[in-house]
Amino acid sequence: MSGLQGRIALVTGASQGIGRACALELARQGATVALAARTESRLAEAAAEIEAAGGQAAAFALDVASEDSIRSAAKSVLDRFGKVEILVNNAGIARDDLAIRMKRTDWDEVIATNLTGVFLLTQALLRPMLKNRWGRIINISSVIGRMGQTGQPNYAASKAGLIGLTRSLAREVASRGITVNAVAPGYIETPMTAEMDAERRAAILAQIPLGRPGSDLEIAQAVAFLASEGAAYITGHVLDVNGGMFMGG
Ligand code: NDP
Repeated sequence: MSGLQGRIALVTGASQGIGRACALELARQGATVALAARTESRLAEAAAEIEAAGGQAAAFALDVASEDSIRSAAKSVLDRFGKVEILVNNAGIARDDLAIRMKRTDWDEVIATNLTGVFLLTQALLRPMLKNRWGRIINISSVIGRMGQTGQPNYAASKAGLIGLTRSLAREVASRGITVNAVAPGYIETPMTAEMDAERRAAILAQIPLGRPGSDLEIAQAVAFLASEGAAYITGHVLDVNGGMFMGG
């Protein structure tokens, strides 16, 4: 029997990359996993992979930039499983440009998806989690939210905002047995980073003491740890998983 046996987890952005790896790893450790994102075909493939390996999973259509979609997906998951005990807020996008020429729509879209969506989905699931008196909320931030980055003011603001949300919520719900933490990945090889040009990739690798990109599995393992009983006394923490790229406080 694995550590997360019997737990119900919801992972957003589970159709590819880090979210998909989180869903697979939580399921491997015994959790029943609700996979959510906009691309239902890819969610179904990931859910089928989990079930083929003997796990339990189901796919749910969700657009975290839409409040209506968040409400209806939260209801569907609760109707299906009765509760969500482990919430992994992973869905995220980037729309990069220098601040001086960034379009208002690119600012708004990134904040709506990466920050407001996390708040609204968490709020939609919080009451039953409080009643359950056990919960794990894990928000996927970024090394960019810790350091800032030229050409990513919207993304950095959204990911730094997640850290403030994480710590405030951690204080609000601690008395009910719920921990709230963030994982801040560094440079991870996923579809999001695959289109980066060679020059930018080399510049980033030069900043990483471990000298390589991270894998989606390395993020998923950190998330699974924060979801485990072993992490019960950790809350309001930002776990850097970045090969040493940023060694902050
Ligand atoms: P990908 O672009 O590979 O995957 C993003 C996922 O988010 C997809 O499953 C996508 O699914 C989902 N998503 C995007 N927009 C929405 C939306 N509006 N509603 C629901 N789901 C959505 O990214 P990564 O796997 O690389 O990144 C995952 C998270 O990790 C993001 O929050 C990212 O900011 C963060 N991160 C990534 C790093 C990296 O180096 N890769 C570094 C630091 C942080 P679909 O399109 O089907 O909706």
